[in-house]
Amino acid sequence: MRKINEIIVHCSATRPSWMADKGIEEKRDEIKRWHVVDNGWRDIGYHYLIDRDGQTTRGRALEDQGAHTQGHNANSIGVCLIGGHGSSVNDEFLANFTDEQDQALRVLIDSLQTRFPSIKKVSGHNDYTAAKACPGFKVARWMAGKPAAKHLMASTTIQASAAQLGGSAAGVWGAVTQLEGTDRTLALAFIGIIVLASLWIARERIKKWLMGVQ
Ligand SMILES: [Zn+2]
Repeated sequence: MRKINEIIVHCSATRPSWMADKGIEEKRDEIKRWHVVDNGWRDIGYHYLIDRDGQTTRGRALEDQGAHTQGHNANSIGVCLIGGHGSSVNDEFLANFTDEQDQALRVLIDSLQTRFPSIKKVSGHNDYTAAKACPGFKVARWMAGKPAAKHLMASTTIQASAAQLGGSAAGVWGAVTQLEGTDRTLALAFIGIIVLASLWIARERIKKWLMGVQ
């Protein structure tokens, strides 16, 4: 895997009505056609695309450097928000994009930062070229706002995981109570180790969640 230290946000510069009856995969394929057929690139320029309804899909493989920000492709991940036609640099996010895209972009950034702790910077195309409004808002200002949405999302994710975990735990417990003597002791010790390991793995998310609800 190449070294990844930045996420750069873009927009497709399309109108809200563009391919509105189609899903994100079809929109991704159309943008890929612009990049491959029209521009002669070897693949779509972006790594992720986020539709008006918040649906997110993959573009170019993360291992491959993208083609989205001249001079800044080597170590970045390019994310494209569908929409943004006629937007300007200092527009508010919601002037050109939807609440669902706001949430989806925050979730995507959060999960990429968890997966690649080396990501220290989230910027917009317009941070690198004064000639472009793309993505049609100032990413740093947008990042600084609405932190509550991120915490809400984390706590919703945790609630869902807890419910799932509760379901599996009930099943496992039922099986363990069927065991006797040494078998039961071994099974309980094994479960203890699994629980501790899970908590250890989830510690960052739990820490974030605690910070969000206090
Ligand atoms: Zn751009």
